[in-house]
Amino acid sequence: MKNRAEDLLASYVDALYPVIYINHYDFRAVDGMLGNIADGRKVIEYNNGIGIVDFRNKSPMKECDLAGFFSLVKDDGYDTPVFLVLKDVHNQLDDPVIISFIKYIAERNLYREEYNATVFIVSSRLHVPQELEDLITVFDMPLPGVAQIKEIMEEFRDGLQISVPEETLDGLALSFKGMNEFQIKQILNLAYQDGGCLDSDDRQLILKQKEQLIKKAGLLEMVPADESVKDIGGLSHLKTWLEKKAKVFARLDRALKYGVDIPKGILIVGMPGCGKSLAAKATAGLFEMPLVRLDVGRLLGKYVGESEENLRRALKLSEAISPCVLWVDEIEKAFAGVGGQGGGSDVTTRLFGQFLTWMQEKENSVFIVATANDISRIPPEFLRKGRFDELFFVDFPDAAERREILEIHLKKRKKWNRELDLISIVKLTEGYNGSDLEAVVKDAVEDCFLEGKERLTTEDLKKAQGNIRSISQTLEKRITEIRRAAKDIDLKPAGKRVSAG
Ligand code: ATP
Repeated sequence: MKNRAEDLLASYVDALYPVIYINHYDFRAVDGMLGNIADGRKVIEYNNGIGIVDFRNKSPMKECDLAGFFSLVKDDGYDTPVFLVLKDVHNQLDDPVIISFIKYIAERNLYREEYNATVFIVSSRLHVPQELEDLITVFDMPLPGVAQIKEIMEEFRDGLQISVPEETLDGLALSFKGMNEFQIKQILNLAYQDGGCLDSDDRQLILKQKEQLIKKAGLLEMVPADESVKDIGGLSHLKTWLEKKAKVFARLDRALKYGVDIPKGILIVGMPGCGKSLAAKATAGLFEMPLVRLDVGRLLGKYVGESEENLRRALKLSEAISPCVLWVDEIEKAFAGVGGQGGGSDVTTRLFGQFLTWMQEKENSVFIVATANDISRIPPEFLRKGRFDELFFVDFPDAAERREILEIHLKKRKKWNRELDLISIVKLTEGYNGSDLEAVVKDAVEDCFLEGKERLTTEDLKKAQGNIRSISQTLEKRITEIRRAAKDIDLKPAGKRVSAG
């Protein structure tokens, strides 16, 4: 019986797609699929470095290069329907001779009724030369869904005759989501060797393996997220919202069965130094997920299509390690120039479109936290309903929030004491952001230490405050611009300050 992926692949063949590029590294799995959909066709395999091999038992049949292979088989499609399976030939696809052979076969497959040959390019690297763009269809092997993952785990459990509670299976199956069968089995083996059983602690193992995947690929950056929501002063609406979503993620399997949607992500815009990055980190801490940063600039490549391919791989990778928090910092800069004219902005526009489509269609547990200062420079498509679950505006902290922030930073440095008159500092710091307030505490603590004092006093804080100009003063024009742009959009205040104006 064919599975969903095989049905899809078979439909490509029936629709006469002449060249299908299967971007995958697990050649055994691909062979299995091709064997299942061949439906009486002859399957001829070419293996880079070996030549023609028997598709079934892989024994070498004839040594030749790729051009030699094509000249031998290019007309086989007239005798009998064939699959021509090319493995690891991605590096040879720019060769004009190879291009013309592929075109020869593709055109006959499309326009000659008496000819039937489908070319499959199978490789873990995706490389589509411009000349073949219209003929090649890329087929991504779908990753196993939760039900399939559970089957893999049940098979593993039954093979070893160990008992694993149903609830543990459900929880682990969700953590495995985004990994392929091979990776899942590898981790199950590791977990079993480690403790002789499978239990919910193995989530950590899965997380560690996912970290390895990220480091190896070099497309995303793993960010340590030791912060918790308690480290954020103010931003109470945002914190409450996140705490609600954390409850959904904590019981995601049950929530999904109940009909709750998977939280997609949030956009946090607003004043600099007010805790947007801090909130991204705290989100990962709260959701108990790894935090990975997507740096679009880092994905830009020299060659045509390279940037798009890098973004595609980065997004796939984020799915592979999901559940995770994907942080797109300074999103307005990442997609600066969208819709503009000329080389650089063309690429950015394409990347932006690709990212939006992925966001729109995603049904995985990658939670996006996008942060930005200036909403006027964010492409408006991002702000439409349905992209993010919520758009938050972070303003400068009001008096109560400033007090909270001061307290947090004093407590972090173990310098908080009841005698401190924080109200007077709060009064002096209107227009200060979280970062300025942290600087006040930091400087005061340092001076106190240098003066050899045991206890920090209100005077120490006042002195430090006197030396620090607030960001509202230093960046006055910029702040006005940010506020003006935010007024035109329906943004939810992240903290208590009600209006953006
Ligand atoms: P930018 O727009 O410049 O990137 P941001 O809004 O992302 O700024 P953060 O990087 O989160 O600001 O803040 C810088 C530092 O200031 C934080 O690491 C934290 O120490 C302190 N800080 C800022 N806001 C808060 C807050 N609301 N509560 C506690 N600390 C804060």
